[in-house]
Amino acid sequence: MELLNTLVEKGLRRELPTREEALAVLATSDDDLLDVVAAAGRVRRKWFGRRVKLNYLVNLKSGLCPEDCSYCSQRLGSKAEILKYTWLKPEEASRAAAAGVAGGAKRVCLVASGRGPTDRDVDRVSETISAIKEQNEGVEVCACLGLLTDGQAGRLREAGADAYNHNLNTSEATYGDICTTHDFGDRVETVKQAQAAGMSACSGLIAGMGESDADLVDVVFALRELDPDSVPVNFLIPFEGTPLAKEWNLTPQRALRILAMTRFVCPDVEVRLAGGREVHLRSMQPLALHLVNSLFLGDYLTSEGQAGKDDLAMIADAGFEVEGTDTTTLPEHRVPGGTCGDGGCGDGGAGGCHGAAEVPEQAAASGDAPSDEVRRGLVAVRRRGAGTELPPNA
Ligand code: SF4
Repeated sequence: MELLNTLVEKGLRRELPTREEALAVLATSDDDLLDVVAAAGRVRRKWFGRRVKLNYLVNLKSGLCPEDCSYCSQRLGSKAEILKYTWLKPEEASRAAAAGVAGGAKRVCLVASGRGPTDRDVDRVSETISAIKEQNEGVEVCACLGLLTDGQAGRLREAGADAYNHNLNTSEATYGDICTTHDFGDRVETVKQAQAAGMSACSGLIAGMGESDADLVDVVFALRELDPDSVPVNFLIPFEGTPLAKEWNLTPQRALRILAMTRFVCPDVEVRLAGGREVHLRSMQPLALHLVNSLFLGDYLTSEGQAGKDDLAMIADAGFEVEGTDTTTLPEHRVPGGTCGDGGCGDGGAGGCHGAAEVPEQAAASGDAPSDEVRRGLVAVRRRGAGTELPPNA
């Protein structure tokens, strides 16, 4: 297919596809799906080989958020029966992080619900970062605390945070449909603050919220412009008790096309398979490894993921390898001090907190797809790990 040849050539050169080309990936047929995966897989292997980076979420503070992000089980007015607790102590967070590291995670992602941290919260998280780094040599720590105010990014960096996550989630044009308490520009500003403070930026999207193909392409192009080092791609987990509980719009094929499009637009960036993979990709998860070079191990913030040992087995069975701490995730040209100085995502310039479907008419065409009831049964509220007495999944 001419489109795929063009996209592979561009991806190998880190050249930005056109919007039309990105849209055309989303419009490919199921008959062409394996060709799309194979083409994007060539780009993935060029920049990341067969390595898979594992990341581990620790939910430092769960639920009771004053913001109204409609996809989020922790939102204002959420009726979802999730765990609710206030800040974990540094040693509690460190214990949870250690379980993830023991399970193979290279990065620990410290997440807290809320609009953004107070300065006291930044102090707490700084203590937690110190505890985790003392007890887990070589681990990367990413903070995800919401919107930052002046000076907070610098303080987190000084405390040892390697990265900061704040997702754009959806297109600027539709942002107001999913949240009214902050806007797209607020999110962009926080990602820029993290970058300016010297942290590696992590920013991604959530697919399956009823958005159009154009919205998906818009948000991925906006991410490319922002040039994060990692781009988590979440697939909406439609939690009962949230406004998007009925948005069961994705098919595994649609999810794979979204991941392939993201890879073509951000060829040399860590594209991370994030929340919702088990629910929406289901038995097709191994194919996604040809597109992403990173995923979350174990559980999510408020829902349970596949058992950590099953993640490891899936990676090995599919012929991939877990990336060790002795390997740099990003290609040399994206690493500060690397020999190729021409910049970031291609032309130089990525359910849960703050960030972590196919359109309905396409979903309707999949006559044999599991019913909504069956898919709802795949969503399990997290009842183990951080904030509980039970051991974490890692
Ligand atoms: S995504 Fe973050 S800011 Fe939005 S409701 Fe959830 S916890 Fe609050």
